[in-house]
This record gives sequence, structure tokens and C-alpha cells, in this order.
Amino acid sequence: MQSIIYTRVSSKEQERDGFSIPAQIKLLKKYAEDNNFQVVKIYEESESAKGSGRKQFNEMLDYIIAKPEIKYLLCEKTDRLSRNFKDIATLDQLINENDLTIILVKENSELSKHSRSHEKFMFGIKALMAKNYVDNLSEEVKKGMNEKASQGIFPGGSIPLGYLIDKNTKKIYVDSSRSHLIVEMFQMYAEKKASLSLISAWSKTKSLKMPRSGRSVSKSQVERILKNPFYYGEFRWAGKIFKGSHEPIISKSLFDSVQNAFKSHNKPHLNRKSFAFGSLIVCSECGCKITAQIKKGKYVYYHCTGMRERHKKSYVPETNIVQQFRNGLLPISINQKSADKILDKFKEQEEIIYSNQSKDKHRIEQRLAQLQKWSEQCYIDKLEEKITESHWQNITAKWGDETATLQNSMAVNGSPIHKIKTVEKILELLQVLPSLWDTRNLTDKRKMVDLLYSNFVLDGATLCYTYKKPFNNVAEGTQSKKWRGRRDSNSRPPA
Ligand SMILES: [Zn+2]
Repeated sequence: MQSIIYTRVSSKEQERDGFSIPAQIKLLKKYAEDNNFQVVKIYEESESAKGSGRKQFNEMLDYIIAKPEIKYLLCEKTDRLSRNFKDIATLDQLINENDLTIILVKENSELSKHSRSHEKFMFGIKALMAKNYVDNLSEEVKKGMNEKASQGIFPGGSIPLGYLIDKNTKKIYVDSSRSHLIVEMFQMYAEKKASLSLISAWSKTKSLKMPRSGRSVSKSQVERILKNPFYYGEFRWAGKIFKGSHEPIISKSLFDSVQNAFKSHNKPHLNRKSFAFGSLIVCSECGCKITAQIKKGKYVYYHCTGMRERHKKSYVPETNIVQQFRNGLLPISINQKSADKILDKFKEQEEIIYSNQSKDKHRIEQRLAQLQKWSEQCYIDKLEEKITESHWQNITAKWGDETATLQNSMAVNGSPIHKIKTVEKILELLQVLPSLWDTRNLTDKRKMVDLLYSNFVLDGATLCYTYKKPFNNVAEGTQSKKWRGRRDSNSRPPA
């Protein structure tokens, strides 16, 4: 049986003991040997800076697709293998189409076409946990940005019109060819001399253009400019206001009177954004975006914009759209009983891992102590020139590898209790999805839709969509019955 091995350490883990690639390889090779797998290729992913992607992972996918005789992928744990929804999607496809079996050695579990539903479900849950981990990371990154921001350093994003950035020093300075036009905009609006659309038209006559697109300043861009605290010397970041280190071009009082002018207008203008499910759904007939409009002053209807071709349009009430989204929650919802069952199964798996660990713990600790003692003795021998430099290097490298392997086999990645708590939380969420939906307003419903679904198509009055990964695994695991939403069939990796 031909198999390949995939190993990975993140940049963070490289600084810590017990996460080495050699240790993972050793574990997986031993597993292969014990179970009569022939290892044809080993992938070693050592992640460096963020955003560098996962080269080895992608090469591995290409390799599996090119070589259908490879039926097994050995990996230490789920979190080595999948870091995001897209990975899960791709792996899922390989399981189903190439008949691949993924063996997660430390978790004592395998995933194949024939996996039982609870195993697939578990895979979905673990992927959700991996996602959580990614969220935590991005939280860390944000923290760093926040620190920058509180020092008055604009943490990135596009530089507001009227300013420029020095590419070398990263210093933001006033664009004197445009800044006076920005000041005039503020004055016109504060003095109620012009509306947003008038200011937009006026800026066209002044040849004021957006730096990136080179297009004229639209009405909504004018609004964004007039509401941006950057111009009086502060900036907004992650929902907070920070004092900037750049030079202001208007006074705070001018800014404030503009904000007051906005308040006094106070007419609810309904643009596309104010519809909960605007810019989300595509027409099955012509591929246009589905838009919404209000009828009889309060009923919202969704329909094709009909920009590309004329065809018969359906007008679907928003309440109907909401209901169709709600239908999709049922296949990914579970009841108390199955939640308990799943939790038991998960605990069982964790206990196997944990007991294996503690069984070996004593033996490993002794061996580690011995290696430590030998290394110290050996170092003295080297100093006293009882052994040669190269001999010393060889032997310490060997013992170093063994130490890393042993430490890895002992490393508990997050205590089992913490992991179980996380799973409990996810299971709780999956139990309350429909009631959560019912109690939320449209804005929150849209957030839930964004989290759970993708590929929205309106076919007549029928709304089609797919689950985002790994909720489709959850759906597969909980129900086999058909429903209106389609299975995801996109995101095939490049061959
Ligand atoms: Zn259409």
C-alpha cells in the first residue's frame, strides 16, 4: 500500500521544543512500518513568515492527484493538516474522488469515503477548532497593529485622498495639490451649500480623482471623506479612534459641524447596503446581481437587476428569503442527544491519546533524564579532549533528535480539558442555531449567512446555496436526507 507523509511546523512552534519535523516523521514512519505502508514521499512544511502560503501542502495535493495509486496520507493530527476551510474542501474532494484515506495517527482516527458519519462530523468539528486557532492568531496580529496605532502610526489600509505616503520612510504627508479641495468639500457641506451628489459633481469639474482607480469621486466616497477623522488628525482603527502623527488639514470644529450637518439631514436614505441580503445573490438566468426594492413603503422584494438581458423576473419577498436561509440551518443543527453522543465519542478519543501519553510518560522522562546526563558528560569529555569535535557533534545531533522526538510525544497541545470545552461550545452552538436565527435581527442574520453559506443563486423563487466548509461535513454527519441547498462541488485544486 503506497502512502505519503505530511509534516508541518508553524513559525511559532519552531521556537518551542517538541514540535520538530524529524519527530513527526519518526512517528509516522514507525506507524507506516507497523502497518505495512510503503512510504513513497515525505513532505516537510516549515512555515516561515506569515502569508508565505503552504508550498509543500499544494505540491502534495498535485502529487496525489497525479498519482492515483497513492491511497493513504499519513499525518500526525488534524491541526497539522488543515488550517482553513479551503484545505478541508480540497481534502474532502480527494477523499471522495481519489478514494484517499487520511490517517491521523495521534488521534487514532482515519477519514475515508467509508468513514462513519460521526467521524466526518468530528473532522468538521476539528476543522472548526483549527479555524478558531487561526482567529486567535489574527487577533494577535491585530493587537500588534493596535499598539502601532496607539503610537500614532497609521496601521495601513489606503491613505485618504489629500494625503500621500513616502514609500521609503512610510511617512504620510499632505498632498498640497489636492488638500485645498478636500477643505472646500468640508466647508461646502458644513455651510449646507451643497449636497453629497453636488459635491461629487463639483469635484469632477476640479478634476479631483481617486488615486488608485483614477476615477472621479463618487457620492458615497464624498460621504466617506466627510466622515473621516483622519483630516483633523485622528484615525479610526478597529472601531477605535487614535491620535495620528500626521498633519491635519482641517480643524476639529469644522469636522464637528459637518457631522452635525449629517445629523440634521437625517433622512433615511436607502442604498443597496441597507438591504440585509443585498450584493449577495446572483440570478440563475442571467448572472446579474440580485437587488432589492421596497414596495408599498415597507415590503422588501428581491429581484434580478436585469442589466444583462431581459427575462421574466421573480419578485421574492424578503421574508421568503429569510425562511429559505433558515431551512439550511436544520441539517447542521443537532439535538441534545446527539450532542451528548458526539461529546462522549470525542472524550473517548481524547482519553486514548491521553492514556497513551501517560503510559509512556514515565519511561520517556527517565530516558530524557538519561540523555541529559549523557550530554553533560559528553560535553565535559569534549572539553577534556577525550573525544573528538566531530564525534561530539555527531552524538549530540543524534541525542538532540531523540530528545525532540520524545518531547513531541509528550507534548499535550492544549490540555484535553480545554479541547473538550471548545467542542462543548461548538456543539452548543449547533444545538441552538435555529433559535439563534429566530431571535436575531436582519443584520445579525446576514452575519450568520456569511459565516455558514456561500454560492448564492436565485433560481426563480428558489434560493440555492452551499454550506461553507466545514459545515458541510457537519451536515453530512448529521443528516443524509436531501434538502434544497446543494453540495459544494467547486474548488478543485489546480492539476
Ligand atoms: Zn437575471
